[in-house]
Amino acid sequence: MMEKSYEALIEIVGPKYVSNQPEEVFFYSRDPGISEPHNPDFVVMPGTTQEVQEIVLLANREKIPIVPMGASLSLAGLCIPLRNGIVLDMKRMNRILEVNETSRYVLIEAGVSHGVLQSYLNKNYPRLMHSIPDAPPMNTIGGNMALFGSGHLSQETGFHTEMVQGLEVVLPTGEICYTGSCSVVPKWFARGPLPDLAGLFLGWLGTTGIITKLSIRLYPKPRKKDVLIFVTENPDFIPDIVYNITETKMAEDINIFAQPKPDWAEGFQQTAIYITGNSEEEMSFKRGLIRRSLHKYIHNKKGGFMFVLPMMKPGMMESPIRELSRFADVEKGGGFEYIGVIIAIEDFPQLYRDAVEIAAKYRPKWSIMCRVIGRGHSIMFSYAWPFNRANPEDMEKARKALFESNASGLRNGGVIWKPDIEGQSMMMKMMDPNTVHLLQKIRKTLDPNDIMNPGNWEIS
Ligand SMILES: Cc1cc2nc3c(=O)[nH]c(=O)nc-3n(C[C@H](O)[C@H](O)[C@H](O)COP(=O)(O)OP(=O)(O)OC[C@H]3O[C@@H](n4cnc5c(N)ncnc54)[C@H](O)[C@@H]3O)c2cc1C
Repeated sequence: MMEKSYEALIEIVGPKYVSNQPEEVFFYSRDPGISEPHNPDFVVMPGTTQEVQEIVLLANREKIPIVPMGASLSLAGLCIPLRNGIVLDMKRMNRILEVNETSRYVLIEAGVSHGVLQSYLNKNYPRLMHSIPDAPPMNTIGGNMALFGSGHLSQETGFHTEMVQGLEVVLPTGEICYTGSCSVVPKWFARGPLPDLAGLFLGWLGTTGIITKLSIRLYPKPRKKDVLIFVTENPDFIPDIVYNITETKMAEDINIFAQPKPDWAEGFQQTAIYITGNSEEEMSFKRGLIRRSLHKYIHNKKGGFMFVLPMMKPGMMESPIRELSRFADVEKGGGFEYIGVIIAIEDFPQLYRDAVEIAAKYRPKWSIMCRVIGRGHSIMFSYAWPFNRANPEDMEKARKALFESNASGLRNGGVIWKPDIEGQSMMMKMMDPNTVHLLQKIRKTLDPNDIMNPGNWEIS
């Protein structure tokens, strides 16, 4: 049967884009995080929506699991084929199909990476930009939407999923389906006013269908950018600081960092406030309002702006921030995973204290990295743990740190973002039973043969 399926896959995409060779499936059996590897039976790279459809129809006939994959950079094992089968690598579906300059959206195939779209816009539409996550640039936009990502414009505009205006999806049973305005007219400018079907696919980790095309919002690109760093020594101040800055509506992005290295940084919280504008006058006005919003902290000697050397600014202001990817390999062992938790602003201090405590138990090198989402409606709080894959003892400590981070996030009122299998299971245990039932009912209805990324969003 395996041989028959292999031949059928070659028939669909051609021999160059299917593999069952051990040295190739090896790379698809794992990701940079801590999850246990599992080999797929086949790796397939479709080039068109029709090829995706044919692969899905084949998988239904033969009951073969399918795991859609972008760059597999979730770090949480979300593309590891837990029940073997096909890993569907979407990277060949990388065409930018339309830019609507006036209504500011771009229609792309799901395998377009954030890096490619960023370069394309810089070159061809220098007045437009999209929101960029701090992940390595090869991460795909389809994958980022399937896991509910966020990026450098999320402070102003919300989660990336809120920027999706239309989807083309191959359902688990093979039908090609559209959501949003494009399902009615040949334009991809809005999600409504229709029943919001995009929600059936965003945040579902590839368990309800394969996104093949999508349109996302573009935004005007300001000519100038600057960063201010506000330093405090007490995490209890952070909710009020975020409240004050967001009240001014002057910041494009707000990130909060804490780490034990270099030595001078230990014990401090650094709030990076990014401002953008089109003239020095506008920038200076925004800087002034932000500085004034935090004046009471400076007056009471509870915080202050750090002097940032001009030579350091370009690195701090790039999107994505390359320094974060470098930190991921700080242990030089090629292992990195972070637990991201979406929290209400007021819960920051307790998560911060837990993170420092978990680090003290298990991880000498660590970082807390947070992004304010949607003008202070929530924070993406992350406990980031690099580890050395060549050292089993270190791996075990990292595993414990990740487990405790998931538990801390939930205990303190957060919702785990891009949850690994353990995190999904912890959340489903706490979830309202009718909601769990609804999740399972939707999955069963859309995917009666249970082939889509099995193991995820599933009750074990
Ligand atoms: C240093 C570092 C920094 C990061 N910073 C950020 C950040 O700022 N913001 C952020 O959002 N993320 C961040 N990430 C996490 C992650 O890399 C990104 O979210 C990334 O966009 C995921 O895209 P991907 O292509 O790697 O998805 P994958 O990991 O390949 O896939 C993610 C999930 O989506 C499913 N999937 C993939 N493609 C499709 C599709 N076409 N249709 C349906 N389902 C699909 C997969 O099955 C999987 O469940 C960071 C990661 C690292 C290593």
